Amino acid sequence: MIRKATDPESLAEFATDESGIVHASNVEAVCFPESEQEICELLIEANETGTLVTTSGAGTGLNGGRVAVHGGVVIATQDLRTPQPRELPALRAEQFGQQYSIYVDEDCNEAYVPAGVSTELLDQMLPDGLLYPPDPTEKSGFIGANIACNASGARTFHYGASRHWVLGLRVVLPNINELPWLVSAKPGGDATIVRDFNTDFRAPTQSHFCTDTGEICRDWQSGALGAAYP
Ligand SMILES: Cc1cc2nc3c(=O)[nH]c(=O)nc-3n(C[C@H](O)[C@H](O)[C@H](O)COP(=O)(O)OP(=O)(O)OC[C@H]3O[C@@H](n4cnc5c(N)ncnc54)[C@H](O)[C@@H]3O)c2cc1C
Repeated sequence: MIRKATDPESLAEFATDESGIVHASNVEAVCFPESEQEICELLIEANETGTLVTTSGAGTGLNGGRVAVHGGVVIATQDLRTPQPRELPALRAEQFGQQYSIYVDEDCNEAYVPAGVSTELLDQMLPDGLLYPPDPTEKSGFIGANIACNASGARTFHYGASRHWVLGLRVVLPNINELPWLVSAKPGGDATIVRDFNTDFRAPTQSHFCTDTGEICRDWQSGALGAAYP
């Protein structure tokens, strides 16, 4: 059962972000999925009912990106705390009484991080010698949101922004009823669908697809990608 909140306090909490400049007044519910499957269910329902969906991270954004100004439902990513199963030992950290985990493949210098992990927690969990290079100043922002808005930091002058360090994304789209796509991307290069879980779905070719991972996230949020490739 997907946790949903409709009480005034919860709606008010998600009605704005750190900008404080925009407020949502007619949000129906805030949903807290814990898995990709639950995100699929939410998006399928929203797609069928024509309900607007806005994704929220930690709400530290400074431009109202997570604010559902046109109403609908908010999908909060804070309970996405566990990565997809892999044959790697999970590294764990606790925050606010919740356990978060990531996988690290030290042979490849790669980390598998769920969307709801803050960059502060990520820094804590990464073994010595590995780092999330862009290092945005606000540490409570989530990695999923950092990628969505291509967050940067002081180290970006040397290392580049968040999207330069994305090797792959698991993306949930509103118009498929199977598990998400796995999308891979070379740092700074084109994205490629490496697996399409829905056999009835005609996957777009690379040339139709977005040119970088940040675009994929933004399109997923607005639903534009699903609408563009039915
Ligand atoms: C004091 C302070 C300092 C800051 N310093 C920096 C800085 O140095 N560099 C910088 O770039 N930013 C900075 N920011 C802005 C902010 O912290 C970043 O933009 C951060 O990446 C937002 O993360 P969040 O989890 O709070 O996202 P939110 O504000 O909740 O959401 C941001 C956007 O991402 C979308 N989103 C969230 N999660 C997902 C997801 N899983 N999939 C798709 N879309 C998603 C939301 O819809 C929204 O559009 C700062 C903010 C503050 C308050």
